[in-house]
Amino acid sequence: KKKIAVMTSGGDSPGMNAVVRAVVRMAHHMDCDAYCVYEGYEGLVQGGNLIRKMPWDAVRGWLSEGGTLIGTARCLAFYERPGRLKAAKNMIINGIDALIICGGDGSLTGADKFRDEWPGLLKELVDAKELDAKDIEPYKHLNIVGLVGSIDNDMSGTDATIGCYSALARICEMVDYIEATASSHSRAFVIEVMGRHCGWLALMAGVATGADFVFIPEKPWGDNWQQEMCDLVEKHRNLGKRKTIVIIAEGAIDRNSNKITPVMVHDLLADKQGLALDTRITTLGHVQRGGTAVAYDRMLATLQGVEAVKAVLEATPETPTCFIAINENKITRVPLMEAVKETKEVATAIKAQDFNKAMGLRDTEFTD
Ligand code: ADP
Repeated sequence: KKKIAVMTSGGDSPGMNAVVRAVVRMAHHMDCDAYCVYEGYEGLVQGGNLIRKMPWDAVRGWLSEGGTLIGTARCLAFYERPGRLKAAKNMIINGIDALIICGGDGSLTGADKFRDEWPGLLKELVDAKELDAKDIEPYKHLNIVGLVGSIDNDMSGTDATIGCYSALARICEMVDYIEATASSHSRAFVIEVMGRHCGWLALMAGVATGADFVFIPEKPWGDNWQQEMCDLVEKHRNLGKRKTIVIIAEGAIDRNSNKITPVMVHDLLADKQGLALDTRITTLGHVQRGGTAVAYDRMLATLQGVEAVKAVLEATPETPTCFIAINENKITRVPLMEAVKETKEVATAIKAQDFNKAMGLRDTEFTD
């Protein structure tokens, strides 16, 4: 029987439990044994009871649970070869021959490296007499498939990451709450949302709530953004709007790569010589990450989890490591490292102030 393990790694996102459930159930359906690795790569490195066999009913009810019940962690040891050696040994000890990882681009890059090094790691373990040559015989190749769990929707090659629509729904709900009180007092609110390199949450929340102004890292406003923002807010006020909502991504910058902070925006709106609005700042923080997954993320996680099991069972040593994506409403397999490269290029373009390139690369994600 094949033994398939599933793991969540990096930042948690709503829908990760639905992924674990789908993988465990699909593994059983395909007559394989299912395992969970607890605490991300830390569980793989430490082994022991952090690697557990999962019967069918172990994941019952997990669709409606937030966070990740098998835990996630940042694992420094896995960045280094000795850590990956331990991880390889624990895989063999447990007889695991395929690994499905749900995480961000960091976790998936680590996974690809692990797969590349796999034959060398096994040889080293045998040379060091940690394992017998016959122990490694059935595990010559390691099949790894990724799933992208991230609230930021920050991966190229897929239209949506698992968790992004839950975070967006949470943000919209919070903005609705704030709007009610803002309107009552005729106040302005500057709302900071997550997204260090990716403005998808801020941009889509702006569209979905009818915000007055949005700041994202990929497309900074011109040098005169202060005036532009105040003029627009004033125009909306003159049209009778009793509230002002400005949404700002964590990673928002100006054209010269200086950070635009909520305090800066607050001070502009509140300026006694200018608009003189009664202005407050709300940082949404981790409410965006927590809570249960919306229906879309549960569906995406389930369809992609099923596809991931099919993909690890079909992969050959020649198949490049892939992750499961959704493109134009179809579940697809996408070569992992090309998408990671493109994802990194966006961050690099933003740093280099090549904003046209950054937006061009993002276009693939914003396709509708
Ligand atoms: P995310 O997966 O959300 O991008 P991180 O970048 O923090 O989050 O990665 C999560 C974990 O994946 C790290 O703590 C580390 O154990 C592993 N990892 C990330 N990048 C690499 C890498 N280049 N090589 C090996 N392991 C990595």
